[in-house]
Amino acid sequence: MPTVAAPIATQSTLDDLGVPLSEVTFACVDLETTGGAPPESRITEIGAVRYRGGEREGTFQTLVDPGVPIPRFVSHLTGIDDFMVREAPPVEAVLPSLVEFLRGAVFVAHNAGFDFRFLNHDLERLGYDRIPAPPVCTARLARRVLTADDVPNLRLATLAQFFRTSARPTHRALDDAEACAEVLHGLLDLGGRLGILTLTDLREAVRARGRTHLGKVRLADGLPSVPGVYMFRRPPTDAGPGEVLYVGKAKDIRARVRSYFYGDDRRRIDAMLAEAGAVEPHPCGSEIEALVLEARLIRRHAPRYNRRGKAWRRYAYLKLDLAEAWPRLKVVRKVSGRGAYLGPFRSSHAARQAKDALEEAFAIRRCTRSMGRSTRFAPCALADLGRCLAPCDGRVTPERYEGLVRSLQHALSSPGELLAALEGRMARLAQQERFEEAADLRDRLASLTAALARARRERWLLEAEDLEVEVDGRRHRFRRGALVRRGDETGFSWPLPLDAVEEVDAALSCLGSARVTRADPAPAEPVDGGAALAALRRRLSASRR
Ligand code: SF4
Repeated sequence: MPTVAAPIATQSTLDDLGVPLSEVTFACVDLETTGGAPPESRITEIGAVRYRGGEREGTFQTLVDPGVPIPRFVSHLTGIDDFMVREAPPVEAVLPSLVEFLRGAVFVAHNAGFDFRFLNHDLERLGYDRIPAPPVCTARLARRVLTADDVPNLRLATLAQFFRTSARPTHRALDDAEACAEVLHGLLDLGGRLGILTLTDLREAVRARGRTHLGKVRLADGLPSVPGVYMFRRPPTDAGPGEVLYVGKAKDIRARVRSYFYGDDRRRIDAMLAEAGAVEPHPCGSEIEALVLEARLIRRHAPRYNRRGKAWRRYAYLKLDLAEAWPRLKVVRKVSGRGAYLGPFRSSHAARQAKDALEEAFAIRRCTRSMGRSTRFAPCALADLGRCLAPCDGRVTPERYEGLVRSLQHALSSPGELLAALEGRMARLAQQERFEEAADLRDRLASLTAALARARRERWLLEAEDLEVEVDGRRHRFRRGALVRRGDETGFSWPLPLDAVEEVDAALSCLGSARVTRADPAPAEPVDGGAALAALRRRLSASRR
């Protein structure tokens, strides 16, 4: 029968991850089995030891009748053979007392996944609750805390030797559990100097991947445990605070910043942490405020390690250049000169696709030659195909061409007819089995509709001088698209500048569920094409699938 050498503890701190490690009860467990994985293999021996605050509370040890023959090579390794387990209780008889022994303790094992899987398989099979994940793995913790200079590998025997444990692993369950417990305490002792002080720290340390920067975890000292934005900086100099390296947001600034130091397998984050010398917190009252502030700080500091903050440099507009004598559509990177704009698009490719869609519907000129009112040259094939009014050879009057340009401008703000026409053309191409052309047009139409839909939402936000909305019970004010935080925000003008896209995106992403409590001026009535736009986007998305 199993021997339980101590009263059952009733600690219930597993949910309290901020608890200091000195107040946590650990149960270090080791299993011997007939093979590598359940259900094919079975448990033959269980050893466990409970510790709290460095004090041993009790041990648990029993052989288990696996109900199947033990392979000879396993017997050779563990010394446990069929003869030894023939009088032992089956696992069904062992689990009740083991469950009591483990109750309220943090599960620890060396290469914990192995023992964790075996035990949970039998617990589940026999109707018990599973041991809650994640287990604490001493091998993973050793990877965080020790270096290759300390130990050549992470085997339990190697770690036991490194920490000079009194119990040495023998491939018997209780010996290995005792060694695991001593190794755990050695690792926690080293980890404490690196900032692993609470159960949260320990969980993070064993879960993390990549190289650790635990030596810098003290940079998180004093950070508030509140939602907001944090900035990693280089160390301060006599000239002032160090360069901003990275800006992020979190629900709990302190916990998020600490988590970086336990290991992050993104190479650029690893490089950033190597340079970091300070962390600056910016507490925020809500998610929307944190999103907007993050976008603003990224725009202001252009941190080297933020990928997202650089994306806007690739954005592009579609411009109907009204300064030209014979206006045409252009893809441009910035707003300048007289014209009607659509965008910003997320790439110049998307802008070109929308341009192609518009040129499909409007016979506007596409050549890039500079043209005065009376410039004349030979037309291209588009003229004969009826796809361009061909001002180049004088076959169209300026008045008729201006009428075309006005129609195009009108379609950008009221796109219902335009979209219906393009969708009809796409359907006709499909009917004629010109599927490739239909698919091309579908993609162009998708780019155009996405930009038009986006423009409607942005304009709605940018046109409000004073907009108050309620999101999740909190009120926020916007002035011309900018969240009012300090009161000096002036907002943005249309078309939206490229470097403001991230901020307005952040605001719009939270405004879907917002209730407008005040708007000055009142939001304009939806203009023509809004419903058509939404429906068409759904159809295009469905046809893509
Ligand atoms: S028809 Fe003339 S104006 Fe039109 S795209 Fe061709 S060259 Fe340019």
